[in-house]
Amino acid sequence: QDHNYDTDLVVIGAGPGGYTAAFRAADLGLNVTLVERYDTLGGVCLNVGCIPSKALLHTASIIRETQAMKDHGVVFKKPEIDREKLLDFKNGVVGKLTGGLAQMAKQRKVNRMTGEAKFVDDHTLQVGDDKLTFNQAIIAVGSRVFKLPDMPWDDERLMDSTDALAMTEIPKSLLIIGGGIIGLEMATVYSALGSEITIVEMMDQLIPGADKDLVKPLQQHLKKTMGAEIKLKSKVTECKAQKSGLKVTFDGDDSETYDRVLVAVGRRPNGDLIAADQAGVEVDDRGFISVDKQMRTNVNHIFAIGDVVGQPMLAHKASHEAKIAAEAAAGEKVYFDARVIPSVAYTDPEVAWVGLTENEAKEKDIAYEVGKFPWAASGRAIGNDRTEGFTKLLFDPETEQILGAGIVGTNAGELISELCLAIEMGCEAADISLTIHPHPTLAESVAMSAEAFEGTITDMY
Ligand code: FAD
Repeated sequence: QDHNYDTDLVVIGAGPGGYTAAFRAADLGLNVTLVERYDTLGGVCLNVGCIPSKALLHTASIIRETQAMKDHGVVFKKPEIDREKLLDFKNGVVGKLTGGLAQMAKQRKVNRMTGEAKFVDDHTLQVGDDKLTFNQAIIAVGSRVFKLPDMPWDDERLMDSTDALAMTEIPKSLLIIGGGIIGLEMATVYSALGSEITIVEMMDQLIPGADKDLVKPLQQHLKKTMGAEIKLKSKVTECKAQKSGLKVTFDGDDSETYDRVLVAVGRRPNGDLIAADQAGVEVDDRGFISVDKQMRTNVNHIFAIGDVVGQPMLAHKASHEAKIAAEAAAGEKVYFDARVIPSVAYTDPEVAWVGLTENEAKEKDIAYEVGKFPWAASGRAIGNDRTEGFTKLLFDPETEQILGAGIVGTNAGELISELCLAIEMGCEAADISLTIHPHPTLAESVAMSAEAFEGTITDMY
């Protein structure tokens, strides 16, 4: 190296992308500086995303399960919710993990800088009042909530996902704008805590990225068990703050007043906030940065990973890309080679899918055949009194290789991993059906779906 830079590698942003990259690069012997604008590490995922939402979802599922026990002859009292204690628990979970990250950064001798970073040139960053020169950089600045315009954002009853997780109140009525994963997870939490939920979604189904049949059991459960009202193919055209609540107009005519409104219509990348042009890094109109298979931007020594490089905006995609970028920065010959990235909605029931969907297959004219196993035929699901789910696998009719999978039902998020591995390994239906699965488990439904495709399924609970 000709220059005397302050650091070998600077990582901008300490979310699951950034901290993973920083740790990996430090393990490979680079001198690493991790810059984060907030005091805690962990980014959106640990502080205001994946982790706190799952802590609250755990509580929600216990509430719902205990209430359902009355049909089994066990009656629990109506739960009393101590909101502050619940928040203490959630914040404690976050604190444990962000504290753990700080510890790990220290152990690895990763230098930390707190402040907002902006590029000065392709080897210099401005961080607050300080300048930092670097040999290589990894941009991991993530994304932010997309705020619908023309809404009364200065009214605290109008919330984004961060506000919803802060839960300053459990409202009597809550409208959720956006029937995607984040909106539906929040619906699951708030309905268990006692809010009356309405969900409005522009498209003709909830979770538009997933197959319609997969989402249907969730939709029914939301309506029947949680009593949610779901408005599909409908749009909020106005939201006005009034004393009695937020008055929302749908499709220009119908209006209704809610105690609170949560806007969960998506996230936008932060690529527009770092003066990337000063370093010559190209950022598109939406704020995304494009990268090659080594996660390099158009500037060879500057990498980008995570939400800021594109969909799907998921933590496990960010951390996978992080390792590639860190290893490439350390001179290893690596590239992004994952065949698939799984998606999970941690709703009740959960919805999980990976690889080819039926929607996508039809759109792209890809030949496929389905093997499907309804959980109504699973002894375990019957015992759990949760038979609404199903498992479906998509196969190539010629080679019988697995192309995609979808699962809806309790624990679908845990069950999908086997199918991620199956797709990565290029499994054929027989590899799955001939693998002995433990009985009685929900995981058996995976082997049963492969058998259903092969036409060899035997009835068995
Ligand atoms: P981020 O986590 O966004 O981190 C970027 C970091 O960069 C932030 O800490 C930010 O402060 C910092 N930063 C930005 N600009 C600068 C700057 N100029 N200088 C210094 N620092 C900067 N994903 C899942 O896989 N599973 C889930 O269950 C899940 N649940 C979610 C629930 C919610 C409510 C939300 C909002 C998201 C959820 N996600 C989930 C998405 C997940 O949080 C993101 O995909 C993930 O955090 C992206 O990681 P990242 O490292 O790219 O960016």
